Amino acid sequence: MTARLRSHEAFARAQRLIPGGVNSPARAFGAVGGEPIFFQSGLGQHLTDVDGHRYLDYIGSWGPMILGHRHPRVVAAIDEALSRGTSYGAPTEAESGLAEQIIEAVPSIEKVRMVSSGTEAAMSGVRLARGATGRELIIKFAGNYHGHADSLLVAAGSSAATLGVPNSPGVTAGTAKDTLVLEYNDPAGLEEAFKSHGDAIAAVLMEPVVGNMGLVVPTPEFLKAARSLTEKHGSVLLFDEVMTGFRLAYGGAQELHGVTPDLTTLGKIVGGGLPLGAYGGRADLMDQVLPAGKVFQAGTLSGNPLAVAAGSATLAELKEHSPYADLDRRGRRLEEGLRSAAEAADLPVWVARVGSMLTIFFQPGWLADGASPQPVTGWKTASLSDTDRYARFFWGLIDHGIYFPCSQFEALFFSTRHTDADIEQTIAAAAEVLHTLRPA
Ligand SMILES: *Cc1c(COP(=O)(O)O)cnc(C)c1O
Repeated sequence: MTARLRSHEAFARAQRLIPGGVNSPARAFGAVGGEPIFFQSGLGQHLTDVDGHRYLDYIGSWGPMILGHRHPRVVAAIDEALSRGTSYGAPTEAESGLAEQIIEAVPSIEKVRMVSSGTEAAMSGVRLARGATGRELIIKFAGNYHGHADSLLVAAGSSAATLGVPNSPGVTAGTAKDTLVLEYNDPAGLEEAFKSHGDAIAAVLMEPVVGNMGLVVPTPEFLKAARSLTEKHGSVLLFDEVMTGFRLAYGGAQELHGVTPDLTTLGKIVGGGLPLGAYGGRADLMDQVLPAGKVFQAGTLSGNPLAVAAGSATLAELKEHSPYADLDRRGRRLEEGLRSAAEAADLPVWVARVGSMLTIFFQPGWLADGASPQPVTGWKTASLSDTDRYARFFWGLIDHGIYFPCSQFEALFFSTRHTDADIEQTIAAAAEVLHTLRPA
């Protein structure tokens, strides 16, 4: 592909003005090397960069754009809301409309509060769980991301039930010590933690299908343990469905798994590409949020009219024209195509997928004769991935005009606008690139 001169200049300018040149670190291409691409527009399944190159987009703004860019129904809804005003700091009828859609869609949600980001939703959900239980400890799982609230920016160096250590300067040890980090898909570890700390655990917080260490699927045993242990010990089970909500099924991963959490956080798709998040769940819990109850949470732009309009239109479209069977069929084809292309190149990969989310994990070493790829079940196995090979794969696809996640540890997303031909084109391009990654 030709040079991205204007992206290069835009990045140089941005770096003088904005830390690292980006407003969110995942955009900086740190994990694949090189410079980020600057974009000027998107339409349907495509993005156009500032140098005029077009890419098939497998990021979808990291999840929100399930209907593709500039979906006519979403654009019309934003236009209509815009013609009346952009923010009132006062309630609107449209907020109840979106609340009705969310409550109808998501099995666990009886009442819902709107905020402006997934971070805010997770932070508020955790505060509510602590406020409602009068307990301080929360359990999270290594490799799960819940936004950047202090108490959630904690990771463990091992899968052992260690008290959390902060993984960002500025997060105090005092905050981190209230977060227990466990290995995902380890029901025994969870049971152990409840045995030692059961009556102090306010909440178990988890991505019910993980997208933030690459795609990792929970086992039924793990989900069952999370549900029954929290129930038994009076802790809150909080599903972070910021990524999976309205993505894997209209009712999110909880609909898919048939497991009902006490609280759920939403973001990304629920705002239709505008800044909106939400948390909701059992009415008796949600009624403890101010002003119905005493747990404080507020926001100047919460339930913003433009974001509510975009979210509401997106959900209406997903409900009226359910895309999930088609997304799953295309996802299966992409999964199989990538797997066979890797096999043909003798490259050991683990391809994980649910619906329209997928990760190709490059495994360390070469595939020994007859050996099968090792399942990626949590951070312990995900972190073994060959990130250098992933980086070469990423840049190879960029040269084919295909925009995959700029990190081994991020899932890809595709939209309802991606066609069968797009999927075939992606598989063919991936096969070519994978071939160049074979051993010398
Ligand atoms: C993206 C994400 C968040 C954070 O949402 P923001 O809107 O970026 O603050 C939280 N949890 C999960 C599972 C996410 O994928």
